[in-house]
Amino acid sequence: MQGRVIKQISNRYTVLLDDQQIKTCIARGKLRLGISPVVGDFVDVQKFDDKYGIEKVYQRTNYLQRPPIANVDQAIVVMSAVNPPFSPILVDQLIFLISCENIEPIILVTKMDLVKADDVIFDYIADYRHGGYQVIISGKDTNDLPALEILLKDKISVLTGQSGVGKSSFLNRLDPSFKLVTQEISHALGRGKHTTRNSELYAIAGGWIADTPGFSKLDFSMITKERLAASLKDFNDYHGKCRFRDCLHDKEPGCAVKEAVDQKMISASRYQHYIECLQYIEEGRKTNYD
Ligand code: GDP
Ligand code: ZN
Repeated sequence: MQGRVIKQISNRYTVLLDDQQIKTCIARGKLRLGISPVVGDFVDVQKFDDKYGIEKVYQRTNYLQRPPIANVDQAIVVMSAVNPPFSPILVDQLIFLISCENIEPIILVTKMDLVKADDVIFDYIADYRHGGYQVIISGKDTNDLPALEILLKDKISVLTGQSGVGKSSFLNRLDPSFKLVTQEISHALGRGKHTTRNSELYAIAGGWIADTPGFSKLDFSMITKERLAASLKDFNDYHGKCRFRDCLHDKEPGCAVKEAVDQKMISASRYQHYIECLQYIEEGRKTNYD
């Protein structure tokens, strides 16, 4: 039987099987499995006596620590249009880190009901969309639910963003029955309250939200410049087009990315933030943003 781990408490795993049955399983020994299963893992489960055991953990597409979670499909960067003000630098740094983890970054702009039609936020949104990013806008009167439901369905999502941007409000609007666990979620999405051995996915809108703050730190110590250069959506169309194969699009001659920035095909501000980020990687910089 195959399934996906949706909850872990120490050595007990709750697995959602492909036929939608939910079973509590134990991992049958680290040595046999090679690795310990974590929430998000796709696993093989076998029944032995009256118990269920995880027999195999499938290869992961990504892995986040604290709390551990594997195979995250997307990270939703939640940022309010105002109050607190929209910060393109913060959004960019987050989507850089997310992209480097092989996770799809999605931008959710909240509080759009509080801005006028000529607000600069619309330029930012156009800029991200032009770069290939999916941007969802949301506000008190916006009917964003259909878009959000399609977005979340069957996926594991991580929500990231400063406090006060509207993460809990967003979850509640999606699923009013979610109110029951809002307290829990706010707590879970907060900072540094995690043990390393317990974690859980919450079912919402046909998908799953992980109880992790995901990218609560701007930690550039774990990524490489090469990885960043290869991961940015903005540069997708220009891979392999620079004179040097290992071009970091910084000071190298014959750089297709820089040329595209000059021709306004790539966002100048995102490129600037990318260059700053190369520096942060060199310094191994780690900062909190909240
Ligand atoms: P969290 O800390 O990210 O979970 O943020 P909350 O969901 O607690 O929201 C913070 C504040 O912003 C609350 O007072 C919400 O009522 C308000 N808020 C959240 N979303 C919106 C929105 O789309 N429009 C407006 N006008 N206010 C919002
Ligand atoms: Zn280049």
